[in-house]
Amino acid sequence: MKTKTNRLTKVVKEHRIKPSSTVPTGPFILPLLPYPAHALEPHIDRRTMEIHHDKHHGAYVANLNNALLGTNVESLSIEDICINISSYPVTVRNNAGGHYNHSLLWTIMSPKGGGSPHGVLLDAINDAFGSFEEFKRQFSSAGSNRFGSGWVWLIITKDKLIISSTPNQDNPLMDVAEVKGFPILGMDVWEHAYYLKYQNRRPDYITAFWNVINWDEVAKRFTTSKL
Ligand code: MN
Repeated sequence: MKTKTNRLTKVVKEHRIKPSSTVPTGPFILPLLPYPAHALEPHIDRRTMEIHHDKHHGAYVANLNNALLGTNVESLSIEDICINISSYPVTVRNNAGGHYNHSLLWTIMSPKGGGSPHGVLLDAINDAFGSFEEFKRQFSSAGSNRFGSGWVWLIITKDKLIISSTPNQDNPLMDVAEVKGFPILGMDVWEHAYYLKYQNRRPDYITAFWNVINWDEVAKRFTTSKL
């Protein structure tokens, strides 16, 4: 009996998870959610937000820091890294994208979100798409049609607003993106963003997403990024 216990103890010890090796300190940190995890209910549920932020985004940050350990790029911003992403290994591409995209996502959602934009942003959307309703239709459709995991974006490129979509954790800042520009709105259509509540019903999640968009934040990104 004693031998068995000792053996088990040894095996457990050998396989112990070492938090310090999976959660390196810096240079990048997981930002706090700007609202409680339950605040976007009923549109996006608490458990999804907790796992999405703490586990998924947390892993992107930890993996990115691990990938950059001992390199001379630790002082670069996440944007600098995205802009030159083709010169990095794919691990950096996936995790730098994951960090940038989710950091943006938390800010463009709000418990006081939804409705429609106004002012210069609404004017620009009307100019680009004809109407806000038509923009919603095209953006939602891009989300439904994104095969597999990815993102849909509203970006500024050459002072024009356009909708684009990227696979995996790529984003429009990346030099590898098919359509490049500055994202002012992003929608995560990975299953991890909706599966607990909506299962396979991505279109229902997309419909719900319109109720949490923080248009004030999107407008701020729009006005401060126009040349
Ligand atoms: Mn996600």
